[in-house]
Amino acid sequence: ACFDRMDAMESEVHAFITIDRERAMAEARRVQKGIMDGTYTGPLAGVPVAVKDNICTKGVATTCASRILENYVPPYDAHVIERLKEAGAVIIGKTNMDEFAMGSTTETSAMGITRNPRNTDHVPGGSSGGSCAAVAANEVFAALGSDTGGSIRQPSAYCGVAGMKPTYGTVSRYGLIAYASSLDQIGPVGKNVADCAALLEIISGPDRRDSTCVAGESLDFSGLWEEYKISPEAVAAGLRGMRVGVPEEYFTGGIDPQIRDAVLKAADTMKAGGAIVETFSLGMTQYMIPAYYIIACAQASSNLARFDGVKYGYRTEGAGDLHDMYKKTRAQGFGWEVKKRILLGSFVLSSGYYDAYYIKALKANRLIKEAFDRAFEKYDLILAPAAPSAAPKLGTSLTDPLKMYLSDIYTVAVNLAGLPAMSMPCGQTGSLPVGLQLIGQRFKDDIVVRGAAAYE
Ligand code: GLN
Repeated sequence: ACFDRMDAMESEVHAFITIDRERAMAEARRVQKGIMDGTYTGPLAGVPVAVKDNICTKGVATTCASRILENYVPPYDAHVIERLKEAGAVIIGKTNMDEFAMGSTTETSAMGITRNPRNTDHVPGGSSGGSCAAVAANEVFAALGSDTGGSIRQPSAYCGVAGMKPTYGTVSRYGLIAYASSLDQIGPVGKNVADCAALLEIISGPDRRDSTCVAGESLDFSGLWEEYKISPEAVAAGLRGMRVGVPEEYFTGGIDPQIRDAVLKAADTMKAGGAIVETFSLGMTQYMIPAYYIIACAQASSNLARFDGVKYGYRTEGAGDLHDMYKKTRAQGFGWEVKKRILLGSFVLSSGYYDAYYIKALKANRLIKEAFDRAFEKYDLILAPAAPSAAPKLGTSLTDPLKMYLSDIYTVAVNLAGLPAMSMPCGQTGSLPVGLQLIGQRFKDDIVVRGAAAYE
Protein backbone atom coordinates (compact mmCIF):
# COMPACT_ATOMS: atom_id res chain seq x y z
CA ALA A 1 0.00 0.00 0.00
CA CYS A 2 2.85 2.39 0.81
CA PHE A 3 4.54 1.71 -2.52
CA ASP A 4 1.25 2.27 -4.38
CA ARG A 5 0.88 5.56 -2.61
CA MET A 6 4.46 6.50 -3.50
CA ASP A 7 3.71 5.72 -7.15
CA ALA A 8 0.81 8.13 -6.96
CA MET A 9 2.52 10.91 -5.01
CA GLU A 10 6.27 10.92 -5.63
CA SER A 11 6.27 12.57 -9.05
CA GLU A 12 4.76 15.63 -7.42
CA VAL A 13 5.96 15.56 -3.80
CA HIS A 14 9.44 14.00 -4.17
CA ALA A 15 9.85 13.15 -0.50
CA PHE A 16 12.38 10.39 -1.18
CA ILE A 17 15.93 10.28 -2.48
CA THR A 18 16.14 6.48 -2.50
CA ILE A 19 13.22 4.03 -2.56
CA ASP A 20 14.42 0.52 -1.88
CA ARG A 21 11.48 -1.49 -3.11
CA GLU A 22 13.03 -4.93 -3.59
CA ARG A 23 14.98 -4.96 -0.37
CA ALA A 24 11.96 -3.68 1.57
CA MET A 25 9.60 -6.26 0.06
CA ALA A 26 12.04 -9.07 0.85
CA GLU A 27 12.37 -7.80 4.41
CA ALA A 28 8.58 -7.45 4.75
CA ARG A 29 8.10 -11.05 3.60
CA ARG A 30 10.71 -12.27 6.07
CA VAL A 31 9.01 -10.42 8.94
CA GLN A 32 5.58 -11.59 7.80
CA LYS A 33 6.69 -15.19 7.79
CA GLY A 34 8.09 -14.73 11.29
CA ILE A 35 4.81 -13.24 12.50
CA MET A 36 2.82 -16.08 10.94
CA ASP A 37 4.87 -18.85 12.50
CA GLY A 38 5.03 -17.03 15.82
CA THR A 39 8.83 -16.68 15.92
CA TYR A 40 8.62 -12.96 15.45
CA THR A 41 7.03 -10.62 17.96
CA GLY A 42 8.86 -7.30 17.54
CA PRO A 43 6.67 -4.31 18.50
CA LEU A 44 6.94 -2.78 15.00
CA ALA A 45 6.74 -6.07 13.11
CA GLY A 46 6.08 -5.26 9.47
CA VAL A 47 5.55 -1.51 9.92
CA PRO A 48 7.05 0.50 7.04
CA VAL A 49 9.26 3.38 8.20
CA ALA A 50 11.14 6.02 6.18
CA VAL A 51 14.52 7.37 7.26
CA LYS A 52 16.18 10.75 6.65
CA ASP A 53 19.13 10.43 4.33
CA ASN A 54 21.72 11.55 6.89
CA ILE A 55 21.21 8.36 8.96
CA CYS A 56 23.47 5.49 7.88
CA THR A 57 21.78 2.41 6.46
CA LYS A 58 23.97 -0.59 5.70
CA GLY A 59 24.00 -1.36 1.98
CA VAL A 60 21.64 1.53 1.13
CA ALA A 61 22.98 4.87 -0.16
CA THR A 62 23.15 7.63 2.45
CA THR A 63 23.78 10.92 0.69
CA CYS A 64 22.95 13.78 3.08
CA ALA A 65 21.40 15.23 -0.10
CA SER A 66 24.92 16.24 -1.14
CA ARG A 67 26.94 15.58 -4.29
CA ILE A 68 29.90 14.81 -2.05
CA LEU A 69 28.17 11.69 -0.67
CA GLU A 70 26.10 10.91 -3.76
CA ASN A 71 27.57 7.42 -4.15
CA TYR A 72 28.25 6.66 -0.49
CA VAL A 73 26.88 3.32 0.69
CA PRO A 74 27.56 2.85 4.41
CA PRO A 75 29.02 -0.48 5.52
CA TYR A 76 27.09 -0.24 8.81
CA ASP A 77 23.73 0.66 10.31
CA ALA A 78 23.20 3.61 12.66
CA HIS A 79 22.15 2.64 16.20
CA VAL A 80 18.57 3.76 15.52
CA ILE A 81 18.44 1.56 12.41
CA GLU A 82 19.63 -1.46 14.39
CA ARG A 83 16.87 -0.72 16.90
CA LEU A 84 14.19 -0.33 14.24
CA LYS A 85 15.22 -3.57 12.57
CA GLU A 86 15.21 -5.45 15.88
CA ALA A 87 11.69 -4.16 16.43
CA GLY A 88 10.62 -5.55 13.04
CA ALA A 89 10.22 -2.25 11.18
CA VAL A 90 10.75 -2.35 7.43
CA ILE A 91 12.79 0.56 6.10
CA ILE A 92 11.30 1.47 2.76
CA GLY A 93 13.33 4.45 1.71
CA LYS A 94 15.59 7.38 2.48
CA THR A 95 14.06 10.83 2.57
CA ASN A 96 15.09 14.15 1.08
CA MET A 97 16.54 16.91 3.23
CA ASP A 98 18.49 20.13 3.11
CA GLU A 99 22.11 19.35 2.22
CA PHE A 100 23.84 18.16 5.43
CA ALA A 101 20.68 19.25 7.30
CA MET A 102 21.54 22.92 6.72
CA GLY A 103 18.38 24.80 5.90
CA SER A 104 14.72 25.26 6.71
CA THR A 105 13.00 24.43 3.43
CA THR A 106 14.56 21.27 1.84
CA GLU A 107 15.49 23.55 -1.06
CA THR A 108 19.26 23.26 -0.46
CA SER A 109 19.13 19.55 -1.37
CA ALA A 110 21.39 18.61 -4.29
CA MET A 111 18.79 15.98 -5.22
CA GLY A 112 15.95 18.37 -6.08
CA ILE A 113 13.25 19.98 -3.98
CA THR A 114 10.40 18.39 -2.02
CA ARG A 115 6.93 19.91 -2.18
CA ASN A 116 4.52 20.31 0.71
CA PRO A 117 1.72 17.72 0.23
CA ARG A 118 -0.80 20.07 1.87
CA ASN A 119 -0.17 22.66 -0.86
CA THR A 120 2.43 21.83 -3.47
CA ASP A 121 3.27 25.49 -4.21
CA HIS A 122 4.86 25.63 -0.77
CA VAL A 123 7.96 24.18 0.86
CA PRO A 124 7.61 21.28 3.31
CA GLY A 125 10.04 22.99 5.69
CA GLY A 126 13.40 21.56 6.61
CA SER A 127 15.74 20.13 7.01
CA SER A 128 13.73 16.90 7.55
CA GLY A 129 11.27 18.03 4.86
CA GLY A 130 11.27 14.66 3.07
CA SER A 131 10.41 12.70 6.22
CA CYS A 132 7.54 15.03 7.13
CA ALA A 133 6.21 15.24 3.57
CA ALA A 134 6.30 11.42 3.24
CA VAL A 135 4.18 11.05 6.39
CA ALA A 136 1.84 13.90 5.43
CA ALA A 137 1.35 12.40 1.95
CA ASN A 138 0.47 9.01 3.50
CA GLU A 139 3.43 7.39 1.75
CA VAL A 140 4.56 5.93 5.05
CA PHE A 141 3.21 5.66 8.59
CA ALA A 142 6.19 7.15 10.37
CA ALA A 143 9.70 8.37 9.70
CA LEU A 144 12.92 9.35 11.40
CA GLY A 145 14.32 12.85 11.13
CA SER A 146 17.12 14.76 12.79
CA ASP A 147 16.85 18.04 14.65
CA THR A 148 19.82 20.37 15.17
CA GLY A 149 17.88 23.62 15.41
CA GLY A 150 14.30 22.67 14.59
CA SER A 151 14.64 20.33 11.62
CA ILE A 152 12.02 17.89 12.90
CA ARG A 153 9.64 20.33 14.59
CA GLN A 154 9.43 23.02 11.91
CA PRO A 155 8.72 20.74 8.90
CA SER A 156 6.25 18.79 11.07
CA ALA A 157 4.44 22.08 11.68
CA TYR A 158 4.53 23.04 7.98
CA CYS A 159 3.24 19.61 6.87
CA GLY A 160 0.64 19.11 9.63
CA VAL A 161 2.18 16.05 11.28
CA ALA A 162 3.63 15.36 14.73
CA GLY A 163 7.38 15.36 15.33
CA MET A 164 9.56 15.23 18.39
CA LYS A 165 13.09 16.23 19.27
CA PRO A 166 14.01 14.22 22.37
CA THR A 167 16.30 15.37 25.20
CA TYR A 168 19.93 15.54 24.04
CA GLY A 169 21.56 12.23 24.90
CA THR A 170 18.35 10.19 24.83
CA VAL A 171 18.90 8.73 21.36
CA SER A 172 22.32 7.59 20.15
CA ARG A 173 23.89 9.65 17.36
CA TYR A 174 26.02 6.69 16.25
CA GLY A 175 25.59 6.57 12.48
CA LEU A 176 24.00 10.02 12.18
CA ILE A 177 26.20 12.06 9.84
CA ALA A 178 27.14 15.01 12.03
CA TYR A 179 26.14 18.61 11.43
CA ALA A 180 26.62 20.19 14.89
CA SER A 181 27.37 17.40 17.34
CA SER A 182 26.35 19.16 20.56
CA LEU A 183 22.92 19.99 19.09
CA ASP A 184 22.05 17.06 16.79
CA GLN A 185 19.39 14.58 17.89
CA ILE A 186 17.47 11.95 15.93
CA GLY A 187 13.74 11.86 16.54
CA PRO A 188 10.43 10.51 15.23
CA VAL A 189 7.86 11.96 12.83
CA GLY A 190 4.37 10.45 12.85
CA LYS A 191 0.74 11.06 12.11
CA ASN A 192 0.03 11.62 15.78
CA VAL A 193 1.64 11.87 19.19
CA ALA A 194 1.19 8.17 20.02
CA ASP A 195 3.02 7.04 16.87
CA CYS A 196 5.92 9.38 17.66
CA ALA A 197 6.08 8.09 21.22
CA ALA A 198 6.03 4.47 20.04
CA LEU A 199 8.96 5.10 17.72
CA LEU A 200 10.84 7.01 20.38
CA GLU A 201 10.54 4.13 22.84
CA ILE A 202 12.29 1.95 20.29
CA ILE A 203 15.10 4.26 19.17
CA SER A 204 15.98 5.68 22.61
CA GLY A 205 18.30 4.06 25.11
CA PRO A 206 21.98 3.66 25.90
CA ASP A 207 24.72 3.11 23.33
CA ARG A 208 28.40 3.03 24.19
CA ARG A 209 29.34 4.12 20.68
CA ASP A 210 28.01 7.64 21.36
CA SER A 211 29.75 9.07 24.43
CA THR A 212 27.04 11.71 24.88
CA CYS A 213 24.27 9.10 24.97
CA VAL A 214 23.13 8.71 28.56
CA ALA A 215 23.27 5.38 30.33
CA GLY A 216 20.05 3.96 31.69
CA GLU A 217 16.77 2.77 30.36
CA SER A 218 15.02 3.51 27.08
CA LEU A 219 12.07 5.87 27.31
CA ASP A 220 8.94 4.05 28.36
CA PHE A 221 5.50 5.53 27.85
CA SER A 222 3.60 2.33 28.62
CA GLY A 223 1.92 3.88 31.69
CA LEU A 224 0.45 6.55 29.47
CA TRP A 225 -0.81 3.98 26.94
CA GLU A 226 -2.36 1.95 29.73
CA GLU A 227 -4.37 5.07 30.58
CA TYR A 228 -5.18 5.48 26.90
CA LYS A 229 -6.58 1.97 26.83
CA ILE A 230 -8.84 2.84 29.75
CA SER A 231 -9.97 6.00 27.97
CA PRO A 232 -8.58 9.00 26.11
CA GLU A 233 -10.35 11.11 28.76
CA ALA A 234 -8.04 9.62 31.35
CA VAL A 235 -5.09 10.96 29.36
CA ALA A 236 -6.72 14.36 28.95
CA ALA A 237 -7.18 14.40 32.70
CA GLY A 238 -3.40 14.46 32.90
CA LEU A 239 -3.60 18.14 32.00
CA ARG A 240 -5.27 18.91 35.29
CA GLY A 241 -2.86 20.94 37.39
CA MET A 242 -0.13 20.89 34.75
CA ARG A 243 1.72 24.21 34.85
CA VAL A 244 2.20 25.66 31.37
CA GLY A 245 4.27 28.80 30.73
CA VAL A 246 3.76 30.95 27.65
CA PRO A 247 6.82 33.14 26.88
CA GLU A 248 5.51 36.62 26.07
CA GLU A 249 8.49 37.38 23.78
CA TYR A 250 7.39 34.57 21.46
CA PHE A 251 4.16 36.33 20.56
CA THR A 252 5.44 39.75 19.54
CA GLY A 253 7.65 40.90 16.68
CA GLY A 254 7.70 38.97 13.43
CA ILE A 255 5.00 36.38 14.17
CA ASP A 256 2.13 36.05 11.68
CA PRO A 257 -1.08 37.08 13.56
CA GLN A 258 -2.92 33.97 12.36
CA ILE A 259 -0.19 31.74 13.79
CA ARG A 260 -0.26 33.70 17.05
CA ASP A 261 -4.02 33.34 17.35
CA ALA A 262 -3.98 29.60 16.59
CA VAL A 263 -1.26 28.91 19.16
CA LEU A 264 -2.90 31.09 21.83
CA LYS A 265 -6.15 29.24 21.15
CA ALA A 266 -4.29 26.00 21.87
CA ALA A 267 -3.17 27.56 25.17
CA ASP A 268 -6.84 28.26 25.96
CA THR A 269 -7.74 24.66 25.12
CA MET A 270 -5.12 23.42 27.56
CA LYS A 271 -6.47 25.80 30.17
CA ALA A 272 -10.00 24.54 29.59
CA GLY A 273 -8.63 21.02 30.06
CA GLY A 274 -7.40 21.92 33.54
CA ALA A 275 -3.86 23.18 32.94
CA ILE A 276 -2.63 26.27 34.76
CA VAL A 277 -1.56 28.52 31.90
CA GLU A 278 0.46 31.64 32.60
CA THR A 279 2.36 34.20 30.53
CA PHE A 280 5.94 34.90 31.60
CA SER A 281 9.11 36.52 30.34
CA LEU A 282 11.73 33.99 29.23
CA GLY A 283 14.41 36.53 28.34
CA MET A 284 17.52 36.07 26.17
CA THR A 285 15.34 35.64 23.07
CA GLN A 286 17.35 38.17 20.99
CA TYR A 287 20.49 36.06 21.44
CA MET A 288 19.05 32.70 20.43
CA ILE A 289 19.51 32.93 16.64
CA PRO A 290 23.00 34.50 16.72
CA ALA A 291 24.28 32.03 19.34
CA TYR A 292 22.82 29.08 17.44
CA TYR A 293 24.23 30.00 14.04
CA ILE A 294 27.70 30.71 15.43
CA ILE A 295 27.86 27.45 17.39
CA ALA A 296 26.24 25.30 14.69
CA CYS A 297 28.47 26.66 11.91
CA ALA A 298 31.62 26.34 14.05
CA GLN A 299 30.89 22.68 14.70
CA ALA A 300 29.86 22.10 11.08
CA SER A 301 33.16 23.52 9.79
CA SER A 302 35.00 21.01 11.96
CA ASN A 303 32.69 18.04 11.26
CA LEU A 304 32.69 18.55 7.50
CA ALA A 305 36.49 18.65 7.32
CA ARG A 306 36.39 14.86 6.92
CA PHE A 307 34.90 15.11 3.43
CA ASP A 308 38.22 15.56 1.67
CA GLY A 309 37.99 13.14 -1.24
CA VAL A 310 40.29 10.64 0.46
CA LYS A 311 38.36 8.37 2.78
CA TYR A 312 34.92 8.23 1.18
CA GLY A 313 32.56 10.11 -1.05
CA TYR A 314 33.19 12.10 -4.16
CA ARG A 315 36.73 12.73 -5.45
CA THR A 316 37.45 15.17 -8.27
CA GLU A 317 38.97 13.93 -11.51
CA GLY A 318 42.33 15.13 -12.69
CA ALA A 319 43.62 17.13 -9.75
CA GLY A 320 47.29 18.12 -9.63
CA ASP A 321 48.64 17.68 -6.11
CA LEU A 322 46.94 16.75 -2.83
CA HIS A 323 45.84 20.29 -1.95
CA ASP A 324 44.46 20.81 -5.42
CA MET A 325 42.47 17.56 -4.97
CA TYR A 326 41.07 18.74 -1.62
CA LYS A 327 40.09 22.10 -3.05
CA LYS A 328 38.46 20.82 -6.21
CA THR A 329 36.67 17.97 -4.44
CA ARG A 330 35.16 20.31 -1.86
CA ALA A 331 34.44 23.08 -4.37
CA GLN A 332 32.56 20.64 -6.61
CA GLY A 333 31.04 18.42 -3.93
CA PHE A 334 29.46 20.92 -1.52
CA GLY A 335 26.55 23.21 -2.33
CA TRP A 336 26.48 26.92 -1.64
CA GLU A 337 24.66 26.83 1.72
CA VAL A 338 27.16 24.29 3.08
CA LYS A 339 30.14 26.28 1.83
CA LYS A 340 28.76 29.45 3.39
CA ARG A 341 28.47 27.75 6.75
CA ILE A 342 31.94 26.18 6.57
CA LEU A 343 33.33 29.65 5.85
CA LEU A 344 31.36 31.27 8.66
CA GLY A 345 32.31 28.48 11.08
CA SER A 346 36.01 28.63 10.19
CA PHE A 347 35.89 32.40 10.60
CA VAL A 348 34.39 32.38 14.11
CA LEU A 349 36.92 29.75 15.20
CA SER A 350 39.93 31.56 13.78
CA SER A 351 42.48 33.28 15.95
CA GLY A 352 41.44 36.84 16.73
CA TYR A 353 37.72 36.13 16.27
CA TYR A 354 37.41 33.07 18.50
CA ASP A 355 36.95 35.14 21.70
CA ALA A 356 34.82 37.79 20.05
CA TYR A 357 32.34 35.37 18.46
CA TYR A 358 32.67 31.73 19.44
CA ILE A 359 33.34 32.19 23.17
CA LYS A 360 30.67 34.90 23.31
CA ALA A 361 28.18 32.51 21.71
CA LEU A 362 29.05 29.80 24.23
CA LYS A 363 28.43 32.28 27.06
CA ALA A 364 25.09 33.24 25.54
CA ASN A 365 24.28 29.54 25.21
CA ARG A 366 24.88 29.12 28.93
CA LEU A 367 22.59 32.03 29.78
CA ILE A 368 19.87 30.71 27.45
CA LYS A 369 20.05 27.34 29.18
CA GLU A 370 19.76 29.07 32.57
CA ALA A 371 16.75 31.07 31.37
CA PHE A 372 14.97 27.80 30.55
CA ASP A 373 16.07 26.23 33.84
CA ARG A 374 14.51 29.16 35.73
CA ALA A 375 11.31 28.76 33.73
CA PHE A 376 11.14 25.05 34.52
CA GLU A 377 11.32 25.80 38.25
CA LYS A 378 7.82 27.25 37.73
CA TYR A 379 6.42 25.29 34.79
CA ASP A 380 6.11 21.71 33.61
CA LEU A 381 5.84 22.73 29.97
CA ILE A 382 6.52 25.78 27.85
CA LEU A 383 4.02 26.42 25.08
CA ALA A 384 5.25 28.09 21.90
CA PRO A 385 4.68 28.30 18.18
CA ALA A 386 6.89 26.01 16.08
CA ALA A 387 7.53 28.70 13.48
CA PRO A 388 6.54 32.36 13.04
CA SER A 389 4.67 31.73 9.77
CA ALA A 390 3.14 28.88 7.79
CA ALA A 391 5.18 27.16 5.05
CA PRO A 392 6.58 29.77 2.65
CA LYS A 393 6.10 29.52 -1.10
CA LEU A 394 8.74 27.57 -2.99
CA GLY A 395 11.69 29.71 -4.04
CA THR A 396 11.07 32.64 -1.70
CA SER A 397 13.46 31.72 1.13
CA LEU A 398 16.73 31.28 -0.72
CA THR A 399 16.70 34.86 -1.94
CA ASP A 400 16.31 36.11 1.63
CA PRO A 401 18.55 33.86 3.76
CA LEU A 402 18.42 36.15 6.78
CA LYS A 403 14.65 35.82 6.90
CA MET A 404 15.05 32.05 6.66
CA TYR A 405 17.53 32.00 9.56
CA LEU A 406 15.25 34.26 11.65
CA SER A 407 12.34 31.86 11.11
CA ASP A 408 14.18 29.38 13.37
CA ILE A 409 13.55 31.66 16.36
CA TYR A 410 11.23 29.29 18.27
CA THR A 411 13.18 26.09 17.71
CA VAL A 412 16.94 26.69 18.02
CA ALA A 413 17.07 27.49 21.74
CA VAL A 414 15.61 24.07 22.54
CA ASN A 415 18.72 22.48 21.00
CA LEU A 416 21.08 24.95 22.70
CA ALA A 417 19.54 23.94 26.04
CA GLY A 418 19.29 20.21 25.17
CA LEU A 419 15.54 20.13 25.89
CA PRO A 420 12.83 17.76 24.61
CA ALA A 421 10.10 19.35 22.48
CA MET A 422 7.25 18.24 20.30
CA SER A 423 5.42 19.91 17.47
CA MET A 424 1.88 18.95 16.51
CA PRO A 425 -0.92 20.50 14.44
CA CYS A 426 -3.08 23.12 16.19
CA GLY A 427 -4.96 24.75 13.35
CA GLN A 428 -4.84 26.01 9.84
CA THR A 429 -4.18 29.23 7.97
CA GLY A 430 -5.72 28.90 4.52
CA SER A 431 -4.59 25.54 3.13
CA LEU A 432 -1.56 25.35 5.41
CA PRO A 433 -1.29 23.81 8.89
CA VAL A 434 -0.09 25.60 12.03
CA GLY A 435 2.20 23.87 14.53
CA LEU A 436 2.05 24.02 18.32
CA GLN A 437 5.30 23.36 20.16
CA LEU A 438 5.45 21.97 23.70
CA ILE A 439 8.86 22.15 25.39
CA GLY A 440 9.89 20.28 28.53
CA GLN A 441 12.80 20.20 30.97
CA ARG A 442 15.73 17.89 30.16
CA PHE A 443 14.81 14.20 30.59
CA LYS A 444 11.15 15.06 31.07
CA ASP A 445 10.28 13.69 27.64
CA ASP A 446 7.39 11.85 29.25
CA ILE A 447 5.79 15.13 30.36
CA VAL A 448 6.09 16.49 26.83
CA VAL A 449 4.44 13.37 25.41
CA ARG A 450 1.74 13.43 28.09
CA GLY A 451 0.93 17.10 27.47
CA ALA A 452 0.94 16.57 23.72
CA ALA A 453 -1.24 13.46 23.89
CA ALA A 454 -3.68 15.24 26.18
CA TYR A 455 -3.89 18.28 23.92
CA GLU A 456 -4.32 16.14 20.84
N1 GLN B 1 17.22 25.51 10.05
C1 GLN B 1 18.28 25.25 10.97
C2 GLN B 1 19.61 25.30 10.25
O1 GLN B 1 19.59 25.56 9.10
C3 GLN B 1 18.08 23.93 11.65
C4 GLN B 1 18.52 22.79 10.84
C5 GLN B 1 18.48 21.49 11.61
O2 GLN B 1 17.87 21.37 12.66
N2 GLN B 1 19.19 20.52 11.09
O3 GLN B 1 20.62 25.15 10.80
